Amino acid sequence: MLKNDIKITHFVLIMSILNFLFFHFPFYNFVYNDLNCKTFNGIAIVLSLIVLMIVLNSFVFYLLFSLSKFVGKPLLVVFFILNSIAVYFVNTYSIIIDESMIGNVFNTNKEESFSYFSVKLILYVLLLGVLPCVYIIRVKIINDSLKKFLITTAFTLLFILTLAFINSSNWLWIDKNSKKLGGLAMPWSYSVNTSLFYFHKYKENEKEILLPNASIKDSAKSIMVLVIGESARRNNFSLYGYSKNTNPLLSNLNNLYHFDATSSATYTTAGVKSILDYTNTDDLYEILPNYLYRNNVEVIWKSTNWGEPPIHIKNYQNKNDLIQNCKGDRCDYDEILLNGLKEQILSSKKNKILIVLHSSTSHGPSYSNKYPPQFEVFKPVCNSVELSKCSQDELFNAYDNTIIYTDYILNKVIENLKQLTEFKSAMIFVSDHGESLGEKNLYMHGLPLSIAPKEQYEIPFIVWVSDSSKQLKPNKLLSQWHVFHSVLNFLNVQSPIYQEKMNIFK
Ligand SMILES: [Zn+2]
Repeated sequence: MLKNDIKITHFVLIMSILNFLFFHFPFYNFVYNDLNCKTFNGIAIVLSLIVLMIVLNSFVFYLLFSLSKFVGKPLLVVFFILNSIAVYFVNTYSIIIDESMIGNVFNTNKEESFSYFSVKLILYVLLLGVLPCVYIIRVKIINDSLKKFLITTAFTLLFILTLAFINSSNWLWIDKNSKKLGGLAMPWSYSVNTSLFYFHKYKENEKEILLPNASIKDSAKSIMVLVIGESARRNNFSLYGYSKNTNPLLSNLNNLYHFDATSSATYTTAGVKSILDYTNTDDLYEILPNYLYRNNVEVIWKSTNWGEPPIHIKNYQNKNDLIQNCKGDRCDYDEILLNGLKEQILSSKKNKILIVLHSSTSHGPSYSNKYPPQFEVFKPVCNSVELSKCSQDELFNAYDNTIIYTDYILNKVIENLKQLTEFKSAMIFVSDHGESLGEKNLYMHGLPLSIAPKEQYEIPFIVWVSDSSKQLKPNKLLSQWHVFHSVLNFLNVQSPIYQEKMNIFK
């Protein structure tokens, strides 16, 4: 069979059926679960979708290979390899490959991507990707004549249109679920969404829109430390009523407040942008650190994470910078964010200081690698990157240990601030988004907000103030955009864009 010649129409049909069989179990699993398949209408949609998918993909392959086999073959090889990787992640983490997920992929650094490697991934690529590619590369395809090409094209289009017309009553269902269906249809999920991602990224590289100038209203020395959490979900903080004691240190502090909050999105780049933005916007306005730095506030940014909007300040340190100045066995963990911080504050000549610590403490899937061994309080823990392989208990234990470590880091920030007695200080901890830990068979984060479960957007918003006379408003629910205005208020920075209702302090 490998050496035999094959007609182009047969070849593209076989490829499309293989594409359907290999890579669309999650797609039809979703369709099957969402539709009532005992009704005639339910069965009709499923069958129509199968036929439509096979015919449409055959047709696209047909056009590509009719153009030239030098176009068709490389593209199909790339599709099968990428499909096999994509479907592994879809199966393993129950993700949807939409634009934000593509963003996550491109924002994952080298080190982090190694943590996803597993034997199962290699098997997926070999069996579902490489094996069919051997056939694709070796097969000899006999192309149609121009006349036959035109006839085939016309009939296929007619067939697709007829099928769409018959199913017109189901368009609503397809439209309602288009995000999920589109995110599971290979290879279009990542092809279309990668194009969208780059289109939007190109738009984002526009120059940021400057906010109106601000002025500092007094000369009192004050520090605000903003800690941006990673994948920290509210449910697992004992401050919020979680049954396991994950906040042994914070729960003993005075002047510590916690609020319910929801994230604006379920992925890092959008969550971090909202924490730094003055309002809910897709545009690139001057973000909090850039704005304050331009208006004479000392701004220090330390990060073990990524995915933030462009930052234009002098004191910026990423993980590599931090590791270079670190000694000891804790340099791989997020407390590295605190190294040298006090010295930096004391050496500043300014009265108003904003410190942003962008942590990565609860980032999956390797939760158990994110904290030093001493913080493995709950055992046994999940050590596999295939989270569904772990028991619910092991998974929660590993995740909860990251919250205990977060508790330790936040407490350490506060201890540092307490020692700086000449400053009035405050700390705000807010997460970029939440995290799924197997609820509804979902893991990690990144589902579109409209369909995401609450675990992925219910976030903690924790505030500490050094001065017990500084009171907080009794807010029921905060958003990430409250940060900007609260920081301005605390540092006594006056600005035309300041909104009192978005300020958490009295
Ligand atoms: Zn994140």
